[in-house]
Amino acid sequence: MSTFKAPKGTYDLLPPDSASYLAVREAIAAPLRNSGYGYVETPGFENVELFSRGVGESTDIVTKEMYAFTTRGGDRLALRPEGTASVLRAALEANLHKAGNLPVKLWYSGSYYRYERPQKGRYRHFSQVGAEAIGAEDPALDAELIILADQAYRSLGLKEFRILLNSLGDKECRPVYRAALQDFLRGLDLDEETRRRIDINPLRVLDDKRDDVQKQLVGAPMLRDYLCDACKAYHEQVRELLTTEGVAYEDDPKLVRGLDYYTRTTFEFVHDGLGSQSAVGGGGRYDGLSEMIGGPALPSVGWALGVDRTVLALEAEGVTLDLPPATSVFAVPLGEEARRVLFAKVTELRRAGVAADFSYGGKGLKGAMKNANRSGARFTVVAGERDLAEGVVQLKDMESGEQEAVAVESVVDVLKGKLDTQARTAQ
Ligand code: ATP
Ligand code: MG
Repeated sequence: MSTFKAPKGTYDLLPPDSASYLAVREAIAAPLRNSGYGYVETPGFENVELFSRGVGESTDIVTKEMYAFTTRGGDRLALRPEGTASVLRAALEANLHKAGNLPVKLWYSGSYYRYERPQKGRYRHFSQVGAEAIGAEDPALDAELIILADQAYRSLGLKEFRILLNSLGDKECRPVYRAALQDFLRGLDLDEETRRRIDINPLRVLDDKRDDVQKQLVGAPMLRDYLCDACKAYHEQVRELLTTEGVAYEDDPKLVRGLDYYTRTTFEFVHDGLGSQSAVGGGGRYDGLSEMIGGPALPSVGWALGVDRTVLALEAEGVTLDLPPATSVFAVPLGEEARRVLFAKVTELRRAGVAADFSYGGKGLKGAMKNANRSGARFTVVAGERDLAEGVVQLKDMESGEQEAVAVESVVDVLKGKLDTQARTAQ
């Protein structure tokens, strides 16, 4: 062990577990790639203003959780705590919305940073895959995103997740509701900080996770009862599309989520095997965000799914992903000449697209075969002086245990043939 450890609230991804982590990222991205979303990558840090305006001055993310700092050059930056503000900033900066092709559909995958109290499923560095559809107001787009997230989770084999759905209204109806809620909240027995929140962002009080607060919220006015006709009709269409497509959801009139920018459709994916860090993903419509960061009016919708918690959800359900072994062929040279011959064969296999590895460090047969076993390779190629004198190598099928001598010059073709057959019969 070195003197250093990973910083508090972070962890390292290492083989073999890192493989399922990567597979989760890919499984979430696959339905997006398949639905017109293009890949976007933005810097790990932005001007702090972008988040304080875009995420909201009154949110926990901005007031408590952001890694903000001043650079040597005097710039005020922050490590990104979430993806939406950055992606929208990038799209506006590149004028993607002016290319006449709305909505602009983008997906991303990366690291995010929040200074939180670390616990299982809650880290200071975590990973999200997200999607944003920018510049269109259409209930089918909201439904599309929810359906794609559902598809991603299902493709991983997850079953015990639920979709919570709500509408937060728009600039017509939300202010009326906000005032009614404030009246109600002012009559409750709440601590100083929560009282302040009543003034700044009363909807967030509904999201309070403490039991004593939740108890008092019984009977609070519900946004559902204040939605204007346009919001009601919009929400009804989203619900209908989901139902028609067979995606089950639960109406959750208290779902507000932690960010200020949401309007109308909001949703969260929760997993019942995760204890208190149960949200595996969330998102919604953010029709006002573009204007909040100085852009034109661009109604948009998106989500972000947490990769770390999705991996935990797989563990909780006992799902093991069916990942192909990283290595198909393992070469074991015995002696100097064999080292040269097999190294060349391994290089040739790799260039032909076959996953191959090599026993390094001049190990004896026993140690090398142990490595071959651990690699998960289906075939091992062993060669010693005597084999090479006869112009052959020994090809061992690690599954059946069968071994045969194969001519040195044909071993690459023989292996390709065997692996092709194996891939076909596995289908
Ligand atoms: P929570 O209510 O659990 O704090 P959140 O509403 O802050 O979640 P979002 O900002 O919506 O989370 O981020 C989307 C997803 O990213 C979450 O559903 C979760 O899976 C993941 N996520 C958010 N914060 C963390 C964290 N600190 N550690 C690990 N994953 C996280
Ligand atoms: Mg949070």
